[in-house]
Amino acid sequence: MSESINERRKAENDFRLALERDELLLHYQPQIDLKTGRVVGVEALVRWRHPEQGLLYPSNFISMAEDSGLIVPMGEKVLRTCCEQSVLWQKEGINPLITAVNLSLRQLYMQNNLTEMVAQTLFETGLSPEYLELELTESFCMQNIESTVSLLREFRSMGIQLAIDDFGTGYSSLSYLKHLPFKKLKIDRSFISDLTQDPDDLTIVKTTISMAHNMRLKVIAEGVETIEQLELLRSLDCDEAQGYFFSRPVPADECSELLKEEGFLFNEALKV
Ligand code: C2E
Ligand code: MG
Ligand code: MG
Repeated sequence: MSESINERRKAENDFRLALERDELLLHYQPQIDLKTGRVVGVEALVRWRHPEQGLLYPSNFISMAEDSGLIVPMGEKVLRTCCEQSVLWQKEGINPLITAVNLSLRQLYMQNNLTEMVAQTLFETGLSPEYLELELTESFCMQNIESTVSLLREFRSMGIQLAIDDFGTGYSSLSYLKHLPFKKLKIDRSFISDLTQDPDDLTIVKTTISMAHNMRLKVIAEGVETIEQLELLRSLDCDEAQGYFFSRPVPADECSELLKEEGFLFNEALKV
């Protein structure tokens, strides 16, 4: 037990140092409009370049960052980096994109000036709020509903876009979501992976898309890996997709190359 406490302390200490030494970085994954084939957004995903262990993924450190409270400085750093990058892409002449960033429930609880921090970051980086999208998970929205609703309304009144992440993994009903100011719903990867084999997943995805559309929500499918999944999603009138089929999350410079080519990159696969 004391060994695991020690390990935990060491991990936290390493992460604190990582923040000071700027060892965190972002990878970006494009989001594609399925009607036009164009990249309309990118999702920023945090990585840790660990000095001994190499590149680490969020599953290795997010829950530790949440438990230790370090998710707060991490979140600020992630937001600032992706806003700066988004402005840089606009300056390079790339069509303005939505930059999506994930927000953890703990950030909401631990940082009482969250909206001010976001407003300040937008102001300092010069990113216009309509190009920022915050992704919140379904469980996030179901906890502490009243304060969540007022927080989400505040974000909306600032002009920021809101997306609900990992949809289908929690217990929220679509009718409840109607009262929340979301613009976009992200169907969880777990429903997409077997979409072409599992009739239940197909039914769930089909129903989610049509109900979301009735509520004037855009739908994006996460984790699209094959052309068969892509074609099926297009036939179901899904608006956007994201996944390894198009691109893995990549470093900013690689993503820039991709964004410069995007005019024709996915057209063949999408036959547009
Ligand atoms: P998420 O927001 O649902 O992100 C999607 C995850 O699916 C990412 O994993 C991405 O790399 C992965 N993915 C994308 N396309 C495919 C695909 O076609 N196939 C498969 N198998 N996977 C795909 P990643 O980067 O490891 O991130 C995991 C989770 O960590 C994210 O899930 C998000 O909840 C969290 N996370 C990532 N970055 C941040 C951050 O900056 N802040 C916070 N609070 N959470 C973050
Ligand atoms: Mg996400
Ligand atoms: Mg997700």
